[in-house]
Amino acid sequence: MMGEEHLAPYAMRTEFSKGRLHPEPEHAYRTLYPRDRDRIVHSTAFRRLMHKTQVLVNQASDHHRTRLTHTLEVAQISRTIARQLNLNEDLTEAIALEHDLGHPPFGHAGEAALNDCLSAEGGFEHNHHGLRIVTLLEYRYADFPGLNLSHEVLEAQAMHSPKRDAPELARFLGVGQPLLEAQIVDAADSLAYDTHDIDDALSLGLIGPDDLGQVAFWRLAVERMRRKHPRIGALQFQPAAVRSLIDWQVTDLLEETRRNLECERIRSIEQVRRCPRLLVVPGEEVRALKKELEAFLRERVYRHFRVLRMAHKGRRILEALFTEYSRHPEQLPNRYRQRLHSLPAARVVGDYLAGMTDRYAQDEYLRLFQPYSPL
Ligand code: MG
Repeated sequence: MMGEEHLAPYAMRTEFSKGRLHPEPEHAYRTLYPRDRDRIVHSTAFRRLMHKTQVLVNQASDHHRTRLTHTLEVAQISRTIARQLNLNEDLTEAIALEHDLGHPPFGHAGEAALNDCLSAEGGFEHNHHGLRIVTLLEYRYADFPGLNLSHEVLEAQAMHSPKRDAPELARFLGVGQPLLEAQIVDAADSLAYDTHDIDDALSLGLIGPDDLGQVAFWRLAVERMRRKHPRIGALQFQPAAVRSLIDWQVTDLLEETRRNLECERIRSIEQVRRCPRLLVVPGEEVRALKKELEAFLRERVYRHFRVLRMAHKGRRILEALFTEYSRHPEQLPNRYRQRLHSLPAARVVGDYLAGMTDRYAQDEYLRLFQPYSPL
């Protein structure tokens, strides 16, 4: 394939792809994975990420991360890493842009709420739902349901699920470890949210600069940054510290991955799959620092009363919508009502709610429960 000559022997190549669920003629000039990427970017689910919570709900400010900007950061960092390692950058980008499509409104709280509501249907999990969206729920193409993405993108989503033994995942799962391109996205996802959640929490005043003094990773990143910019201004301090933290982690990830590839003597995709451990991981020092940072985030940010207050509200909204629509599904929009003939009502309602943005769910709550509300 043109443009893939430079790829490492353990990179995924278009010619080795298992292809698409529904065979299609090739495009005149766009190859498999760039075409996947374009389909994802043009999907409704992708645009909805703009109004879905990452950690903080939409109305908290105009500057913090949403699911969409988080996704773009993950894609950008993933591409950088893939290019440095001579892995398939197009596939990596498609996996990254797709990786959070299945998230419901209100972040983790929304996922927990839907998991409870759908317990009789096997629960709700965002990787599973992402696969439902791209194989079934998007309806943009005449010849197939969903986006008909390449097997490798679907596999990455399935392998990322903590509930891998669910029967509906079986056809997507690979044997052994995920491809290196998928491992990159996983590492970049974690690197991105650890860093941007600190950044957002500082900007919104959930934590202060003094609180971060107790976090070694932050302290050391600031020291590194100050060595380069000893007289940095107050305005540039926070973004420069955040940049230093990202740069350190990406460099460390590249070095550790190169070491692992060398030490496990990886020469092919088969060897990646058979390897007893993941290869794209942080080094030992960064791993320990990251663990401490994540404990801080859990305690001081994710359990901050302002964050929890919004999370509980999101949960109540989804539970109330679920109960009301399950009791009277004739209130569902026609497209969902039609599916009641072939699916249990709970699943249809679950799909409807999971697709909503935070904003839409809040409006829908008003429409259903506020005595005076728009149609
Ligand atoms: Mg993510």
